[in-house]
Amino acid sequence: MGTALIVGASRGIGHELVRQYLAEGWRVIATARKKEDCDMLAEMGAEPHKLDVTNVEAVAGLGWKLDGEHLDVAILNAGVYGPKSEGFPMQSDFDAVMHTNVLAAMRLLPIIAPMVCLARGKLAVMSSRMGSLSSRTHPNGTLYRASKAALNSVLIDTALTFGARGATCVALHPGWVRTDMGGSGADLSVEESARGIRKTLASLPPSDQAVYRDYDGTPIPW
Ligand code: NAP
Repeated sequence: MGTALIVGASRGIGHELVRQYLAEGWRVIATARKKEDCDMLAEMGAEPHKLDVTNVEAVAGLGWKLDGEHLDVAILNAGVYGPKSEGFPMQSDFDAVMHTNVLAAMRLLPIIAPMVCLARGKLAVMSSRMGSLSSRTHPNGTLYRASKAALNSVLIDTALTFGARGATCVALHPGWVRTDMGGSGADLSVEESARGIRKTLASLPPSDQAVYRDYDGTPIPW
């Protein structure tokens, strides 16, 4: 068993990934932005770090605290959907979604990737099928789609730098999952999604180039 880092583990898919990796005997480093969620993660058996991914000092601090770690799996899971209503975008909504889903990845991936290279591991971002540019069928969720397409772009660039050094870079679609974000009518439980994600990451061969996968391993076109 290896070491996994889950960024954004207070609830939803990230929390379930922590639970399943721990149950399988992995060492799990997990982040959350509230102290009570860090306490909960510690009680589960994970090594918690307090991190709001939009806080640049906290991001730099995480890099300092984890320096030298060998990460077999690192999953940047924290994300927000933004406003459900369509229409004229407010600057505050744009900033919140882009800072959480894109800017945070631009800062965190270069910090985490060298630790994944040391283990020749998997560096994953929790993207979405909604970020695919070439398989769009609905115009809904424009801001969220733009953020996940930009996240995919950041991951592809990360692979250009760190892929040849040993980090296999993966954009994941977790499925449509019953969480606060996915809603109660979604297709999958968090257990099913996390199980599929873990299996997909475990079975992916090493790759210099970024890949885009559904939770069950099916390739998704960029
Ligand atoms: P969720 O239940 O809403 O949980 C979101 C997680 O992100 C929470 O742990 C939240 O922490 C964390 N987070 C948000 N902003 C953060 C910040 N600034 N700093 C640190 N953590 C932050 O969502 P989910 O359904 O589990 O989604 C997880 C990921 O999968 C997201 O990236 C989402 O876009 C993606 N995804 C989900 C679905 C779906 O159907 N559910 C489909 C496609 C993609 P707090 O508790 O502190 O808010």
